[in-house]
Amino acid sequence: MKILVINAGSSSLKYQLIDMETEQVAAKGLCERIGIDGSKLTHKLPGHDDVVIESPMPDHNEAIRLVLEALADKKHGAVKSMNEIGAVGHRVVHSGEDFTESVLLTDEVLQICKRNTDLAPLHQPANVMGIEACKAVMPKVPQVLVFDTAFHSTMPKYAYMYGLPYEYYEKYKVRRYGFHGTSHKFVSGEAARFLKKDIKSLKIVTCHLGNGSSISAVDGGKCIDTSMGFTPLEGVPMGTRCGDIDPSVVEYLMNKTGMDVHATLNTLNKKSGMLGLSGISSDFRDLCAAEEKGDERAKLALDVFGYTVKRFVGAYAAAMNGLDVLVFTAGVGENTESVRSRVAGNMEILGIKLDESKNRNGQRGIIREISTPDSRVRVLIVPTNEELVIARETKEIVEKKK
Ligand code: ADP
Repeated sequence: MKILVINAGSSSLKYQLIDMETEQVAAKGLCERIGIDGSKLTHKLPGHDDVVIESPMPDHNEAIRLVLEALADKKHGAVKSMNEIGAVGHRVVHSGEDFTESVLLTDEVLQICKRNTDLAPLHQPANVMGIEACKAVMPKVPQVLVFDTAFHSTMPKYAYMYGLPYEYYEKYKVRRYGFHGTSHKFVSGEAARFLKKDIKSLKIVTCHLGNGSSISAVDGGKCIDTSMGFTPLEGVPMGTRCGDIDPSVVEYLMNKTGMDVHATLNTLNKKSGMLGLSGISSDFRDLCAAEEKGDERAKLALDVFGYTVKRFVGAYAAAMNGLDVLVFTAGVGENTESVRSRVAGNMEILGIKLDESKNRNGQRGIIREISTPDSRVRVLIVPTNEELVIARETKEIVEKKK
């Protein structure tokens, strides 16, 4: 079976066609500028040059239609007929409290997803557009929704409740939800497999460090806490997001700068974090290069990031009353050794001994261990693959239905 994985944004749509026999990518690509002038589709077939198709995409339906056309094209396609696509798996940002795992699309499920757009107004409407486009263009193909929040649904109530009046939880669902769930689930599972241990016996902290970053505590395979909250703004400072701050800063800044609440939140989401601290870039490659040249603010941004991630690792070791495995994943976690050493260096108190040579040298794109042989905690780099998780869950759910 081949599964089409869709990650729909408001003006973009990423796709991967995964062959489930081999779990390899048969084709993938990106539609950009949907609903805007200059729409284009970049289609990639392994071993071939990229194909760029410039064609108007007034909406997501047209984008999906072009994707299917590209996938079935005689020259650069990956299927002979549409019948080869057994199912579609969608990345959906928010499950609210309605779903604790991936789910087969029905009319009722779609209604619930639409109701939850309040909780993720920037992302969920685009996800819904992607789902509706597939429904319209390929009505007979089963679709599965895989939620960013679902893996975190096992958090105990005391970990997801905020210290706010209880009625805000009851009336408005204000609580910690957590995000990047497919990644935390995947890398914790891969870590257990790599170590040849039953995940039920392991206490794992997973650090998904990318443009957006979150840390999770995974005890016996279940998430018991995570650093992102009601939205992906909470937790560690990120590329452009501020992470945890005292909420009183919002009113104080509004008074001082004259910004309204919308502009202030825009600053917290888009101009803060690594970009705001360094004044240089949100990209960790730029920050590392600037630090090497002696830029103090780039160093400060990296120090704040490393220190905050370290604090979460310590907190989650306390929360689980132990720690067996520390996992780094995503763009920064997999590639930025100076961040890993800031987080996992000088952590002997927790039984973590980082091997600096292994941390700095080693093949990319594979699971590898970067702790010393006598480190009580095993420290691993595990490449994440959210599309593969979505494809696997989609296959499982579609096959169960049969
Ligand atoms: P997103 O949250 O957008 O999925 P990614 O997980 O792709 O983000 O991470 C993007 C970040 O990873 C950027 O800050 C980038 O600097 C960093 N990164 C990606 N590749 C490398 C690399 N080869 N070396 C160093 N840093 C990298």
